Amino acid sequence: MHLRSIRARLTLWYTSLLTVTVLILGGTAYGLLGYSLARDMDRALQGVALTLAAQPYRGSSPPIPAEVEAIFRRFFGLSPWDRYVERRQPWSDRDPQESSPRAGGLPLSPNARHRAAEGLQTFETLEGLGPYPVRVLTQPVREAGRVTSLIQVGMSLESVAVTRGRFLLVMATVLPLALLCAGGGGWLLARRALRPVDRMTEAARRISAEHLHERLESTGSDDELDRLATTLNDMLGRLDAAFRQVRQFSADASHELQTPLTILKGELEVALRAPRSPDEYQRVLASALEENERIARLVEGLLLLSRADAGVLRMDRQPVDLAALVAEVGDYAQVLAEAQGVALEFKSVAPITIQGDREHLRRLLLNLVDNGIKYTPAGGRVTLTLQRDGGWVALRVADTGIGMGPEELERIFERFYRAPEAVEQGKEGSGLGLCIARSIAEAHDGRIHVESSPGQGSAFTVFLPLPA
Ligand code: ADP
Repeated sequence: MHLRSIRARLTLWYTSLLTVTVLILGGTAYGLLGYSLARDMDRALQGVALTLAAQPYRGSSPPIPAEVEAIFRRFFGLSPWDRYVERRQPWSDRDPQESSPRAGGLPLSPNARHRAAEGLQTFETLEGLGPYPVRVLTQPVREAGRVTSLIQVGMSLESVAVTRGRFLLVMATVLPLALLCAGGGGWLLARRALRPVDRMTEAARRISAEHLHERLESTGSDDELDRLATTLNDMLGRLDAAFRQVRQFSADASHELQTPLTILKGELEVALRAPRSPDEYQRVLASALEENERIARLVEGLLLLSRADAGVLRMDRQPVDLAALVAEVGDYAQVLAEAQGVALEFKSVAPITIQGDREHLRRLLLNLVDNGIKYTPAGGRVTLTLQRDGGWVALRVADTGIGMGPEELERIFERFYRAPEAVEQGKEGSGLGLCIARSIAEAHDGRIHVESSPGQGSAFTVFLPLPA
């Protein structure tokens, strides 16, 4: 039995408590038994003494009258002859020695004699008269208002001792047996109650990173252990999702990096296969540089996201004039918009300054405007609005482009997610732009809100807190 196991400790506690309870109860019962036996005996002695006192005096040591014997039988179930001594002796105040009992009879203590002289009865327990102590009652007898004689009635305490002994014997035999049964029962009960914990431990041990989809057995009983299983299962669910995300992320990241690297390698190999003209080399090198920039952008984006995840995104906070920033991004994006045949507008651009990292905010805005232009067919329009909204600055990029359905909307902030339509239309992109935008907004204690409907267009609004 391992003392550190809950089962062993429960059983130990249970058995100890039971032992203490039984000992207290047994002790009380033993005390009460002794008290009531002594009281019964005193009453019986008194009954005998009073009956004898009512008899006329016929000299010393008369035989026990039949009615006295009957009383003895009733109370003790014994023949009184060998059990009690009865003596009636004449009373003399002047010479107490004269009235002392015969040799071998009951001794009369000075205290009992003294009390008898005052007409009071005395109960005493005397040792040394036999193998067991004797309970003695000294009862004065009055005649015509005067104490004329006294009666002594004695009874061996053997029956009391025997009854007490039997009680102790029963206790000593039954108690260990009861405790043994209770301890065994407690152990089995604790084992039964804790069996689900063992099963849970076993199951939890089995669930490694490779088996995070497994769950602990739940009984549905809504007890403490069932709630523990549910809580652990919820935790496993979150771990599973996190692990899957990490795996998906590394798979996607390697895939995204592999594509430009393969293109780069292919182009360089083809260029090296035969001598080329300077123009051709120029074209290959320009293309290689383009792929290189793509890879660099991707790596930079991944780095930013992992830093934001770890909460260590470097922020160079300073006052940023958002109107100026919007104008700058607008100018830059104008070239892209024109190439795409999309009109780009700025609206209600009022000077608003916030504390933030200018480079990160520029990137955020550029990602949104770039998406707006990219996912809007020629002839459409992208509108950039900057305004105050309560304690916030609202930076809105709205387009009249392809829009998105609710399913896509739910997933656009996932890493590497690209809506099927965007992929089908052959739009370039890695699926990281919106994640980066959101991470930057959150690093500024802000958030991004999206509205979109397929075929109608989308509107992304970035809310950033205004300085108090
Ligand atoms: P990508 O590099 O593919 O643009 P993003 O993270 O910027 O990656 O966007 C994720 C996906 O969200 C895009 O692939 C596209 O399907 C969708 N999306 C983003 N912006 C818009 C928009 N303005 N209009 C329609 N769809 C958009």
